[in-house]
Amino acid sequence: MGAQHEQLSELEVWIDQDLCTGDGICAQYAPDVFELDIDGLAYVKPPAPAGEEADLLTEPGAAAPVPLPLLNDVVDSARECPGECIHVRRASDGVEVHGPDAAA
Ligand code: SF4
Repeated sequence: MGAQHEQLSELEVWIDQDLCTGDGICAQYAPDVFELDIDGLAYVKPPAPAGEEADLLTEPGAAAPVPLPLLNDVVDSARECPGECIHVRRASDGVEVHGPDAAA
């Protein structure tokens, strides 16, 4: 009970692995959302129940809901991502709100 991840934002995040440089900046900013897989590229993780580890979504371009408490970290990751390949979009209509395709 009381897991911070139970509170979701209305946003989801996905990574364009074709552009990922594997530097791991996103995994430093938001380790509960981003993780490098054994291929050296970053993938997203869905929120996990308290005390459990989420499975990495290793399908290229897979999207995961963004927990509200981690939204700032995810947005910072998208901003700092050297590959410009972290996309944050509204789950309801798919419009990108942070990332390389977001309206300025
Ligand atoms: S910050 Fe961007 S380029 Fe770096 S590992 Fe994460 S997704 Fe890949």
